[in-house]
Amino acid sequence: MSTPDTTALPDDSAIAIGIGGFRPYRLTVARNERLTPHFTRLTLTGPDLVVFGTDRLDQRIKLVLQLPDGRWHDLGLDDPEAIHTGAWYERWRALEPDQQHPIRTYTVRSIYPAARELVVDVVLHEPAGPAGRFGAEAQPGDEIIVVGPDARSEHSAIGIDFHRGTARDLLLAGDETAAPAICAILEQLAEIGGQWRIHAFVEVPTSADALTVDAPAGTALHWLPRGDRAHGEALIEAVTAFTAADSEFVALGALPAEREPQQLEDVDIDHDLLWEAPEQVVGGAFYAWIAGESGVVKQLRRHLVRDHGVDRGRVAFMGYWRQGRAEN
Ligand SMILES: Cc1cc2nc3c(=O)[nH]c(=O)nc-3n(C[C@H](O)[C@H](O)[C@H](O)COP(=O)(O)OP(=O)(O)OC[C@H]3O[C@@H](n4cnc5c(N)ncnc54)[C@H](O)[C@@H]3O)c2cc1C
Repeated sequence: MSTPDTTALPDDSAIAIGIGGFRPYRLTVARNERLTPHFTRLTLTGPDLVVFGTDRLDQRIKLVLQLPDGRWHDLGLDDPEAIHTGAWYERWRALEPDQQHPIRTYTVRSIYPAARELVVDVVLHEPAGPAGRFGAEAQPGDEIIVVGPDARSEHSAIGIDFHRGTARDLLLAGDETAAPAICAILEQLAEIGGQWRIHAFVEVPTSADALTVDAPAGTALHWLPRGDRAHGEALIEAVTAFTAADSEFVALGALPAEREPQQLEDVDIDHDLLWEAPEQVVGGAFYAWIAGESGVVKQLRRHLVRDHGVDRGRVAFMGYWRQGRAEN
């Protein structure tokens, strides 16, 4: 279980470490295509993407954004040494708080090193934050820094939390912020081929926000329009109905009887990150991956672990964002 391992968390600790797998890439917007009312697709480009890591699944990245007035401070990105040692990040930290470029966490939707293109799907949400705003307004040629994996590093797989081991019976659940990761995961599993039993639930703002995805055969993918309901209601309802109707499926992930009963400590989601992602799932058919608004993930965690006895070592529970709070 990776809970206390800060290198597994989407905080700032890992991004400084150029030699730890992540490094900054100075990129520009090649295209900004509106996919649906609440998703836009940024295709970013830059020569250094030729070394961008391709480990993927749900690999996270950081977007470093321009200041609200459009300015950029010199973070030393012309200096390979500053990139490699993480000195660029020290420069960022040394800026006055109101001068620090906003940093937000996103997912690699696709990466094409040969074409020097990185694709990021951005949710357009209200209230908007700097990243969502950038997604809404970005024009070809606009600049952005992306902190992402370096294929030349032995740690290039840093920031991946989807670790199914050999499991092929999968439960995936999330809100729209998790949709890029869920789509990326499904597409990569389809490339692996073979038999899958996958139940995927994705809550999105409206029915028009359902995305097209090449999922493996054996996938039941449910897009759940929120409409006027509270965030997470539709997702919790759908997952709860599924676990009731197909209890044998989640029973595949039950904690073995000989193991100590699980304690489910409370996480104060207004102060602490809800982030439990097993680094290795050993044996067994079942694995679950749950991400989205922290309060919703917390409820799903309680439901699966407490109500269904699912082994916490077989589920990644990730609070991607918290209602009412900017990322930093
Ligand atoms: C590992 C990881 C991967 C992620 N991948 C993606 C991704 O690929 N695409 C993506 O769009 N998001 C993704 N997210 C979520 C994204 O980081 C957050 O939504 C982030 O807060 C957006 O930054 P912002 O600058 O737009 O808003 P912020 O400045 O962080 O927040 C401003 C306000 O908006 C609210 N808010 C933030 N997100 C939402 C939302 N989705 N709906 C409603 N209100 C919201 C906040 O609570 C706050 O009140 C990911 C998060 C993590 C941890």
